Amino acid sequence: MDGFDSSKGIFMLGATNRPDVLDKALLRPGRFDRRVIVDKPDLKGRVDILKVHAKNVRMDETVDLDAMGLATSGAVGADLANMINEAAINAVKQGRKAISQADLLEAVEVVIAGKEKKDRILSAVEKKTVAYHEVGHALITALEKNAEPVQKITIVPRTMGSLGYVMQVPEEEKYLMTKDELITRITTLLGGRAAEAICFDTVTTGAANDMEKATALARAMVTQYGMCDSFGLMSLEKNEDTYLTGRTSLNCSDQTATKIDNEVNALLKACYERAIKLLTENKDVLAKIADYLYEKETITGAQFMEIYNEVKEQECSISEKN
Ligand code: ZN
Repeated sequence: MDGFDSSKGIFMLGATNRPDVLDKALLRPGRFDRRVIVDKPDLKGRVDILKVHAKNVRMDETVDLDAMGLATSGAVGADLANMINEAAINAVKQGRKAISQADLLEAVEVVIAGKEKKDRILSAVEKKTVAYHEVGHALITALEKNAEPVQKITIVPRTMGSLGYVMQVPEEEKYLMTKDELITRITTLLGGRAAEAICFDTVTTGAANDMEKATALARAMVTQYGMCDSFGLMSLEKNEDTYLTGRTSLNCSDQTATKIDNEVNALLKACYERAIKLLTENKDVLAKIADYLYEKETITGAQFMEIYNEVKEQECSISEKN
């Protein structure tokens, strides 16, 4: 960077995903003075990006890009471009001349979870287990007040390996999460395993990904967010690579690391026990919705809530009669 004559009109641009490993000398004043941080887009950003990619694609009157923005939290520009493209492919395949909102929502799932793998035939027992597992997740969100509403539940396997999933769409984009919301999130993640344990008296490998996510959240609560009483406000883990991997490193003694593991384990255990309690108390509604899902394979959040409210009303009228 040395050797440039400051009277010449040269400016230099650089881009990196790893600002953390840049030579400190490069970052001294007079080198790269202005930094433009390009983070994942927020809701408004996603809607604007969708508009750019939607410009040259024909869309019908059902399309609502604001709703798409809400459903794509965490997606980057390339994902969004890919979604519009997938939606267009879907419309063309079905012989239509314009993209509909349904094409777009299907495209979100294709990009996140892969295409539907209709030729994978699950045995009746496996299919039933997946149905109860997914409804376990969804039911916790309906029973807990801090959860995001369910948009869709499906047990059609997808090419990226999932056998089913619950799609949740927030009512608005949030930048902060409260402790209660995080605990509800972990409880929801463990709800799938809890439903298996309650209804089949055994557990399957299906919860591996849920456990991974739940553990990461619980760990961050203990080490980064100061949400664990025994460590108070002590920061125990540092984020080393915010942009790419999100890798963290512990900055504490080995004894503390052991204590962290114990705290994380206790937190997960408490959430799992809460999931078991909630689902045991609502076993009837769990079974009813899971059987319906087993039959239909995909249900909407509205259908889910309809059965939920129906069973709840019946329970109320029975207890009133008694
Ligand atoms: Zn699950």
